[in-house]
Amino acid sequence: MEDCIYLDHAASTPCLPEVVDAMMPFFTQYPGNPGSVVHGAGKFAARAVKDSRETIASVLAAAPHEIFFTSGATEAINMAIKGIALSAGKGHLITCATEHSAVLQSCRSLESRGFRLTVMPVDENGSITPNLLEASIAKDTLLVAIMHANNETGVIHNLQPIGEICNRYGIPFVCDATQTIGKTPFLPSDFGIDCCCFAAHKFYGPKGIGALYFNTSGRVTRLLPQIEGGAQESGLRSGTLHVAGIVGMATALSTIENQAGSFRLFLENCAYFENRLTAMQGIILNGSSVLRVPGITSASFRFLEGGPLLASLNTKLCVTGGSSCSSGSGKPSHVLTAMGHGPQQAMSGIRFSPGLHTSRADIERALSHIEQCVAQLREESQTWKMFQKGSIKPVPSWFHPLDV
Ligand code: PLP
Repeated sequence: MEDCIYLDHAASTPCLPEVVDAMMPFFTQYPGNPGSVVHGAGKFAARAVKDSRETIASVLAAAPHEIFFTSGATEAINMAIKGIALSAGKGHLITCATEHSAVLQSCRSLESRGFRLTVMPVDENGSITPNLLEASIAKDTLLVAIMHANNETGVIHNLQPIGEICNRYGIPFVCDATQTIGKTPFLPSDFGIDCCCFAAHKFYGPKGIGALYFNTSGRVTRLLPQIEGGAQESGLRSGTLHVAGIVGMATALSTIENQAGSFRLFLENCAYFENRLTAMQGIILNGSSVLRVPGITSASFRFLEGGPLLASLNTKLCVTGGSSCSSGSGKPSHVLTAMGHGPQQAMSGIRFSPGLHTSRADIERALSHIEQCVAQLREESQTWKMFQKGSIKPVPSWFHPLDV
């Protein structure tokens, strides 16, 4: 990894030094279980959890009792979707075709247990149509699960109309904000979100810790616990709390909030990278016409196969084809496919995800490596040569406003 430029921050980020410093004593010096409040060590750990919960709640403009710690976003998503559905027993669920597999699989698993499922389509930019959402609502709709920023394309759903529809019909709104929280200001209450899921390792905190924001005075009256045992987290999520992780998550969130300077540089670097990338020939920027979260650029490469391209790029970079979860599956990205892109564009989609510490020099080196890899692979591609000679024409789905 030494010589590789890490452009996979959407998959995971390094811990900030402040985060490691804050966590370390909870591994080595403070062994207390926050459930053991009958002695000083337990009380100390419980205090650290309480303070962290308050910090996280305040960043999200939530109440501390609305934050429930989990092992990550996947667990928070399962907890919300299955918790709502299974406490109702039967009914209808609505989600969207470009959701993360944690949402899609949770919904499909419920479908296999008798729940009805509507998976909303998206347009070519990855956006959903609010009217379609409204038309999908049935008398027994139990929840609408729509993410904020997409993990493959960075495309941001406009949550305002979605929240309004949920509010009008009194339907719980579950939102996967894993790619948003810590990257751009986001308050669940601004959109009437009942359950919001996120994970610390996406915003320079540790892996293995996440949380569910659950508006306990909102439309969700009951969440059936998915993990039972010691009744921690008000009985909603049993198991000894990961104190070091919780402290690390709170430290990451509050530190990131105060890093305006590095964030400005990060935005400039992201914009520079995208401008230079899209100036290369035969590159399609996926979801380019809509608002996207900074730090996720999804590009497809005309006439190149995803597998060899990824292998070639990853000799010097760390990038994925689509999401880290689906990377290496050999299947076209479900997100790009849902956006109406053909197999070639969906298979050759690469996610570039710079982070706060990616320097301009890293970006320059990455761009020249991308240029070299693409040139070499195209040199070997008969279809590219035929396309350049004009003997084949691109199919309409390849046309794109930014494709030069
Ligand atoms: N949701 C989104 C949008 C993600 O990007 C991810 C991680 O890639 C997850 C959920 C799952 O997060 P975790 O693996 O930390 O549980």
